[in-house]
Amino acid sequence: MPTVPQLHVPTLAISGSEQRFPVRRIYCVGRNYADHVREMGNDPSRDPPFFFSKPADAVVGSGRLPFPSRTAELHHEVELVVALHGGGINVAAADAAAMIFGHAVGIDLTRRDLQAEAKKTGRPWDMAKGFDHSAPIGPLRPGIPPAGGSISLSVNGQVRQRGNLEEMIWSVAEIIAALSGFVRLAPGDLIFTGTPAGVGPIERGDTVRGMIAGTESIEITFEE
Ligand code: MN
Repeated sequence: MPTVPQLHVPTLAISGSEQRFPVRRIYCVGRNYADHVREMGNDPSRDPPFFFSKPADAVVGSGRLPFPSRTAELHHEVELVVALHGGGINVAAADAAAMIFGHAVGIDLTRRDLQAEAKKTGRPWDMAKGFDHSAPIGPLRPGIPPAGGSISLSVNGQVRQRGNLEEMIWSVAEIIAALSGFVRLAPGDLIFTGTPAGVGPIERGDTVRGMIAGTESIEITFEE
């Protein structure tokens, strides 16, 4: 018999702990800050949130990353990420906070050119959003995220995205409630909650830093 592969569970660092958080699934929300909805040419009226996903092993911490293949337009999207230690289906928004283990700052890396092509042709977003190393995330801070506070991103020290968590169209609790109507959420799930305005290109050699007030930042540097 050929060798049976042995898999490992992807994990995230936890602030102030030697333990690591095991990642089960990664869900992402589209269009959750009005200014970003407008910059992408869409109407920011309060449509129900929509979701896509990334593979669990797309998570990566701070450090050096290879530049992704097959793109001439790699974009950064800085986002609040929540991590669940509880789960359920059809969860009420009022019960969502009890499911949250912690929160962190993440970067929803996006091959914007492939995404634009997928939108135009009605094809899936997977290769635009769910590629290797497409989910850099800083250490998790235990506890529910603040409803407001600075979220920003810099490239080579220059601020490119700046927003406030209070600008989210759908709150974290509302996102969890909506998502749990489509899938059963479970311990280990991560949710990217959308990006503020200012998304833009990353070049080879760039250092990208994502920041949320009160959490440890994420910093990645792309190889030349
Ligand atoms: Mn995003």
